[in-house]
Formats: sequence, structure tokens, C-alpha cells
Amino acid sequence: MKTWVTKNGVQLIPLLYGRSNVFLIVSGNVNILVDTSISLLQKSLLRKLKQLKITKIDYLVLTHTHFDHAGNAQLIKEEFHSKIIVHQSERVNIETGANRIPVAKNRFLNHVIKSNSSLFTKEAAYKPCDADITFNEEFRFPECDVKGYLLHTPGHSLGSISFILDDEIAVVGDAMFGFFKKSIFPPFVEDIPEMVKSWGKLLQSGATLFFSGHGKYKTKTQVEKDYQIWSQKI
Ligand SMILES: [Zn+2]
Repeated sequence: MKTWVTKNGVQLIPLLYGRSNVFLIVSGNVNILVDTSISLLQKSLLRKLKQLKITKIDYLVLTHTHFDHAGNAQLIKEEFHSKIIVHQSERVNIETGANRIPVAKNRFLNHVIKSNSSLFTKEAAYKPCDADITFNEEFRFPECDVKGYLLHTPGHSLGSISFILDDEIAVVGDAMFGFFKKSIFPPFVEDIPEMVKSWGKLLQSGATLFFSGHGKYKTKTQVEKDYQIWSQKI
């Protein structure tokens, strides 16, 4: 399993990587999981954790509460007693399992989603669980072992957050998309101007690699290019 390591030794380990990504971050003595993928993949997720002999997960960070990120949150909390961190505006979603239907930038996609909304809501249901920590703009971990912080990066959803590791790598959830070669723009966006502003914030963090919730990572050059194009449009 390829692992990325920052200058201060923070490890970023993709546990599930491709469709709906799950990352394990090891910073000193603290293990943090970012996202959990869909509930259908719970066995694969547990298997990967077992392979790596992970017996404790101190925190579970949910970049946002869509079902393909929060699908196994309740399971992780139950198995590892992890503290769940989510943006304060999405606490209600994780605690009720309510899955807001994403808004697509593409009219056709929106139509498909809306006309299948009952099916979509059912497919996307997940088990609710309590959030332990919520924040608004920025969250610093109490353990000095953790070389990184969380940042509110809204747009894809209003409570989307990113994890900045060692001012070097950003794990951004769906604030960017890693599936398309020539663009970082996600297919579902609640607020485009907010998302573009979030790209600006992420670029200012000093990060040079951006790991999306879906597909592969993006480089600073790719993000800068889209940021410039889109800041002129909003
Ligand atoms: Zn999403």
C-alpha cells in the first residue's frame, strides 16, 4: 500500500483508494481515519485495518456527511470508540442519518437525481451516530503529536471540511474531484462561489498535494489552474 510521509513524519495511508476514498493518518501516537466510504464496503475497510494491525482509531474525521463518506461511521465508532469530528452545520445529518441529496452542477444529473429521489434516499441511508466534536472555522487537535489541523472548506456541501497535514498535504473530501484528468471540479456542488473560495484557502495552506474523496490526488499546479479560471467566473 503506497504511503505518503510529510517532512515531520506524518503518514497518509490510503485504505480504500479509487471510488470512495478512506485515508488513515498516523501522526506520532495518534491514529485518525478520514471518511469511511459506503456501507457496502464495510468488510473491505475492516480487512485493511486488520492487515495494518490497527487496534485504535482516536478520531474519525468526516469531510462531510454524504453517504459515500459517512456510510461506516457508526461501525467505526462502535469498533474503535473513535471520537467523531464533523462540521457543526452537518452534526444534525450524522446524528439522524439524514442524507441530503447532493446538488449537481449539471442539469441532466440534477434531473436524474430528482426523478429518482426516493430510490436515491433509500440507497444512501446510513446508520446515524453521535458526533463528539464539532467546530466552525478551524480545529486544532489537543494532542501536540498531531501535525495538522482541520479547516472549513464549504461548497460541495455547506459543512465540508479538509485536513491539512504538516502544511504539506491536504485531504479535501469532495471540495475537489480526482476522477477527471483536466479538472478538479466535482459533479455535485451546493455553492460554487463558496467552493472556489475554499480552493483559494486550500492553496494558501501551503499544501502541494490534494487528496480528493474520489479518484486520485491533484497537484498544486492543477488546483491553481482551475482556481484561476473559476475565480474569474464567480
Ligand atoms: Zn459528497
